[in-house]
Amino acid sequence: MSNNVFDLSGRVAVVTGANTGIGQGIALALAEAGADIAAVGRSEATETAGKVRALGRRCELVSADLSSIEPVSEVVDAIVGKLGRLDILVNNAGIIRRADALDFSEEDWDAVIDTNLKTLFFLSQAAARHMVGWSSQSGLRGKIINIASMLTFQGGIRVPSYTASKSGVGGLTKLLANEWAPRGINVNAIAPGYIATNNTAALQGDETRNRQILERIPEARWGDPADIGGAAVFLASRAADYVQGHILAVDGGWLAR
Ligand code: NDP
Repeated sequence: MSNNVFDLSGRVAVVTGANTGIGQGIALALAEAGADIAAVGRSEATETAGKVRALGRRCELVSADLSSIEPVSEVVDAIVGKLGRLDILVNNAGIIRRADALDFSEEDWDAVIDTNLKTLFFLSQAAARHMVGWSSQSGLRGKIINIASMLTFQGGIRVPSYTASKSGVGGLTKLLANEWAPRGINVNAIAPGYIATNNTAALQGDETRNRQILERIPEARWGDPADIGGAAVFLASRAADYVQGHILAVDGGWLAR
């Protein structure tokens, strides 16, 4: 084992929604730290795979629509079948639906809760069942990293199901940390602030909103997916073996204000 506690060589990291945005930033950062990657998602993460392989790491693409929990155990079996193990799970895939709470539809409620919260729980369960045995064989702790949000801490507006899902991610992170710490698994979350991705392109393109956002962020810039990648490497590494149930804000100081 390397003396560098941040070295992830030989580990297998599963990243959901790794084809773009924050998921891609996380996959590339984990690969830079030495991990092989399984990129799980609806769209094929071919660009991410190319970049991961250019770093000399393996990258397997696993196709799955995570709006329901049906593919979850096949996803874990496929990854272990292809890459031989599973050390790190990053639950990143997520969606948002916007409407006033008075008009919010059941369809938009279910779609967001199912993808952002229900699948996150059952994928974590399937991965943890594998990690429990693997951790005792390998001597390495399993690592689960959930992507939360500022709305894990705040209410937001016009995003009721998203806020409920991300608050739920915060609560579940703590519960799973309590239950799985003794089983050799660390469960933590990252709460990104405003990160420049396709998801936030409309906000970045709206001159007034963009100015308001930048004025409110002490760092006075949008975050980059690589900023979240750095936090993910820390939480996935041996350096964070004693970090449990933590929600790490990576927000340019947004919450400090
Ligand atoms: P993007 O919209 O750029 O990426 C979302 C990812 O989730 C895509 O890879 C997408 O795949 C995947 N995904 C969505 N639905 C499904 C599904 N049913 N099955 C499989 N994959 C799915 O968003 P971001 O990169 O901005 O966001 C990533 C995460 O970070 C989300 O959980 C989001 O809530 C969170 N976040 C983002 C912030 C930001 O400022 N950008 C701030 C706080 C949190 P596909 O392309 O196939 O749809």
